[in-house]
Amino acid sequence: MNIGAHVSTKGGLACAPARAREIGAGCFQTHPTSPQSWRPIAGDDSSTEAFSQAHRDAGSLPHYFHAIYLINLATPKDGHREQSGKALVDHLQWGERLGASGVVFHPGSHLGAGFEVMLPAVISVLTQVIEETEECQVPLLLENNAGSGACIGRSFEEIAAILDGVNSPRLRMCLDTAHVFASGYDIRSPEGAHAMLNGLNSTIGMERISLVHANDSKADLGSNADRHENIGDGKIGSEGLSALFQDPRMACIDAVLEVPGMEHEGPDRTNINRLRACAGKAELG
Ligand SMILES: [Zn+2]
Ligand SMILES: [Zn+2]
Repeated sequence: MNIGAHVSTKGGLACAPARAREIGAGCFQTHPTSPQSWRPIAGDDSSTEAFSQAHRDAGSLPHYFHAIYLINLATPKDGHREQSGKALVDHLQWGERLGASGVVFHPGSHLGAGFEVMLPAVISVLTQVIEETEECQVPLLLENNAGSGACIGRSFEEIAAILDGVNSPRLRMCLDTAHVFASGYDIRSPEGAHAMLNGLNSTIGMERISLVHANDSKADLGSNADRHENIGDGKIGSEGLSALFQDPRMACIDAVLEVPGMEHEGPDRTNINRLRACAGKAELG
């Protein structure tokens, strides 16, 4: 398990690797484009080269892309679903060129139509994305959500239905600890954390988990609210997080912080060290 963080791309994507290195991250995640804009990635040769150089200079840490928030694969509107699929193809192709270890995405909302009703359309668009990016090795990582409104992917059963429907080794899962807690999985105690992992393993299978978003939660258990907190300061707390991150089933999965940070400037060295402590790793100086 590499303990890392989401880092800003202010000044350009090529600025991200050094930022990760500076806070002691062992892996990192970025939004390669503005998460609220459909504008496609401008992945020209010079920006690819600039990133690759900066990435090597900072020690070639494993890195992940987080796709834009506008993606909705479950919407009943065909045009929006197609546009969402195109955005994922774009992320995967650029991720391939930059050696990304995965592209994380939020599956979206059925907008009241119902999960079962929209499931075939979700499976169809994802299958098409995988087919259109045959030449890519980069996996797509479907992230669980906090369960608000009509969002899909609120339970392991819903995620398993999507993963099984697409049935590609390139469609995998990203587990967000704050979302799983807010959607009703009580991971505050070692018993609860182990029970959650048992459920995850029996529905989805640990071998299909590629990444963890390591976050404490400002929101209560089952509140369906998506509010991240610094490690140990939230409603989950260090005991549950420690049991989770020291479980041998998590040993090969990278972890990325998406916490507010002590100075509200995003993940920082303090949170890296708190998470390292949870995972039973030596703290950094
Ligand atoms: Zn997340
Ligand atoms: Zn979140």
